[in-house]
Amino acid sequence: MAEGNHFDYLFKIVLAGDSGVGKSNLLSRFIRNEFNMESRSTIGVEFATRTITVNDKRIKAQVWDTAGQARYRAITAAYYRGAVGALLLYDVTNPSTFINVKQWVQELREHASPHIATLLIGNKADLGSLRAVSAQEAAAFAAENGMMFLETSALNTSNVESAFKSVLTDIYHIET
Ligand code: GDP
Ligand code: MG
Repeated sequence: MAEGNHFDYLFKIVLAGDSGVGKSNLLSRFIRNEFNMESRSTIGVEFATRTITVNDKRIKAQVWDTAGQARYRAITAAYYRGAVGALLLYDVTNPSTFINVKQWVQELREHASPHIATLLIGNKADLGSLRAVSAQEAAAFAAENGMMFLETSALNTSNVESAFKSVLTDIYHIET
């Protein structure tokens, strides 16, 4: 069945990464095919869902987004609870967001399942002339840490579908 609300699996995926890397826009691009240049900061936690077909199964992705402000730290445990996938973003034009990926990996290790399928994402790949983190360096880091790796652009849509499809495929293999 390809229509309606039917789904075979529901998988919770969390977005992680520094403020400003494009988490909310990656989500709105995937869910509604929308992009905002002036995106407001996320208040607390929100999630959105979209059902796609992976390996002939209807998979409902429930994707959680947070601004990660200190005052919301109390909800960290709830944010990661039950998550089977993580998209860990940095901004390819901002080296500090890549350096901070290490801390996000630590946060996942502390709060998420050890089996969580994780995709490292270098977002804003459309800003090629401003690039400050090489794909090679990021791919090496991802491999060392057991993560997949992709570069995306929420602005021009490149690899957004692939990013969600690859994490959902990985989850499917881990969870079923
Ligand atoms: P968040 O704080 O991680 O949720 O980041 P946002 O989604 O709010 O994005 C922060 C800023 O980066 C906004 O001005 C977006 O328009 C911009 N942005 C997000 N994704 C991209 C992208 O792929 N390319 C470019 N050029 N800008 C982006
Ligand atoms: Mg946001």
